[in-house]
Amino acid sequence: MAAHPADLHRIEPGAEVDLGAHDPADTSAAPGDKAATREALDELTHRLADLQARLWAEAERRVLVVLQGMDTSGKGGTVKHVFGAVNPAGLRVVSFKAPSASELERDYLWRVHANVPAAGEIGVFDRSHYEDVLAVRVQRLVSEERWRRRYEHIKAFEHLLADEGTAVVKVLLHLSADEQKARLQARLDDPTKHWKFRLGDLDSRERWDEYQIAFAETVERTTAHQAPWHIVPANKKWYRNWAVASILVGVLERMDPQWPEPPDEIDGISVT
Ligand code: AMP
Ligand code: MG
Repeated sequence: MAAHPADLHRIEPGAEVDLGAHDPADTSAAPGDKAATREALDELTHRLADLQARLWAEAERRVLVVLQGMDTSGKGGTVKHVFGAVNPAGLRVVSFKAPSASELERDYLWRVHANVPAAGEIGVFDRSHYEDVLAVRVQRLVSEERWRRRYEHIKAFEHLLADEGTAVVKVLLHLSADEQKARLQARLDDPTKHWKFRLGDLDSRERWDEYQIAFAETVERTTAHQAPWHIVPANKKWYRNWAVASILVGVLERMDPQWPEPPDEIDGISVT
């Protein structure tokens, strides 16, 4: 168990990453059973809302949460359950799809940089620039020489964000192939979930092993002190939500945003 909640499932720079050694069904760090963990989540979401209010009032720093994972790993569910209590005014959720023609005319970081959070905001990326070394690699959209260079661009980009006051927190929602099968089937069986299903999801599933290799290498090469990856077991939604909330509350508590000092001009003033 990590010493500090911000370090839960955190991958250290230089560590070798073997996804096979991470159990997607692991719940051993949970504070109790499913019911108790849900209660703990409820408390964490309110702490997160309070910390975000202070981050907003301080109006200097920002947090960027990057969510990656296979289809059905729960990127959308994490946004809903972890950030549901945060004031939407201070939250910026951006979901990255396959790039448009106009986006493809620029470098791959252009659309990403344009969507980073502003002062006081928590930004959440549902997929991100990491697709440019994941989907792009597995689908062979650019040459290996070209996507390999991107690890260095990405590290430098995130270093820039961190140096300029953005805490970058990256989360890989780690799902098993069996659990994905069940979730994709549920999307086919339930009319209220049909909209989430895309035929392309089956193509990605067929390349499961290639994606796992790409994820492992990506995490290994891009985890950094100022922008760490966390490999969060995602088979159990209740555990996934609690773990991500716990990490974020930990990160924000470390940042310790402060209510600003009252300006001098309100000293001794009252409303008549
Ligand atoms: P979803 O998140 O399920 O709505 O799907 C979005 C799709 O866009 C996924 O299949 C991603 O792999 C794909 N995608 C996102 N960013 C990129 C990118 N930079 N290059 C290629 N495909 C991408
Ligand atoms: Mg999808």
